[in-house]
Amino acid sequence: MANFYDILGVSKSASADEIKRAYRKKAHEYHPDKGGGNEAKFKEVNEAYQVLSDSSKRAQYDRFGDNYQNTAGGGQGGGFQGNPFGGGFDFSGFGSQGAGVEFDLGDIFSDIFGGRQERGSRRQRGVDLEMPMTISFEEAVHGVNKTITIEKQDKCHVCSGSGAAPGTKVVTCSKCHGQGQILTTRRTIFGNMQSASTCDKCEGDGKVPEVPCSVCNGQGVLRRPKTLEVKIPAGIDNGQRVRMQGEGEVGYKGSSAGDLYITIRVQASKDFKRDGINLQKEIPVSFVQATLGAKLDVHTLDGEIEVKVSAGTQPGTVLKVTGRGVPVINSGKRGDLLLTVRVIIPNKLSKKEKELLEQLSKAGGETAEVHKSFWESIKDSF
Ligand SMILES: [Zn+2]
Ligand SMILES: [Zn+2]
Repeated sequence: MANFYDILGVSKSASADEIKRAYRKKAHEYHPDKGGGNEAKFKEVNEAYQVLSDSSKRAQYDRFGDNYQNTAGGGQGGGFQGNPFGGGFDFSGFGSQGAGVEFDLGDIFSDIFGGRQERGSRRQRGVDLEMPMTISFEEAVHGVNKTITIEKQDKCHVCSGSGAAPGTKVVTCSKCHGQGQILTTRRTIFGNMQSASTCDKCEGDGKVPEVPCSVCNGQGVLRRPKTLEVKIPAGIDNGQRVRMQGEGEVGYKGSSAGDLYITIRVQASKDFKRDGINLQKEIPVSFVQATLGAKLDVHTLDGEIEVKVSAGTQPGTVLKVTGRGVPVINSGKRGDLLLTVRVIIPNKLSKKEKELLEQLSKAGGETAEVHKSFWESIKDSF
């Protein structure tokens, strides 16, 4: 296909005026009603003029060159037909040249593929928030209520999110007549396209406050601190999260709020270790208690309990206290408390104790001092 500039006989840099004059001359020359007219050439001249006389179409033509014929519909104002991408377009050049072309690929695609979603996106729920919280070991086992203060985007407390000053009304938007959208017809390389864009006056609401709330400037939302009671369930573990539904940031103009997630950090305990739902603790037992058996008072997270150590208990023995472990969240069940017996060997004895132990030793047939031959006998094992 011949170049539109060549058809009109003008240069690429021709002014609008030059193009107009060239067109008139050519149209006159080829007019089919005239003797010696040429209908085919007349049509060509008209097509060339339709494109080059329109600054935006001309710019597109300058960019796409001969491929412009694939979008010939653009010259007729009738919208495109068929597959717009079947014509061998190369979109790679988009955006990199830019010179004088008011053209946005994103717009074209959104127009083609179902239009814009602005109205919907404005209404999205607010964002979720996340914050850490450190609690003690005991609080994690028993559960705890905590008071926190977070700063977040919240519904305006003065206008309750309406954006209207107290005592004033919210009225229909005069710009979009309550539609929330404004239809615009734009020219694209695929022809004229109608697209709906969000009304900038009411931001898609279709309604505007008669007198905007002075506290939130009519936005219905504002950032402010909010104090919350957080219920941490018994049995929560390190790294688990507590979700507070609707306590995240409020959405646009007070639409539904996101959630607040509190990530729990549990401090270590010097007495207890946690193994899933079980608790572990060491209990010191004297060798006499371990030997003869005893009843011991043991400190647990539920207070003192009495634990029976039977006679002849060996070091490392694990005593299970059923149901004194960690609660399973929201189940009413609890794990167990596992007590590991640690036998304490005294390193200081009173004279009386020493005498008694020596008597004990003799009674059991031991010699009070370890015989030399004992060391000889074990030497080889090292
Ligand atoms: Zn307000
Ligand atoms: Zn509006």
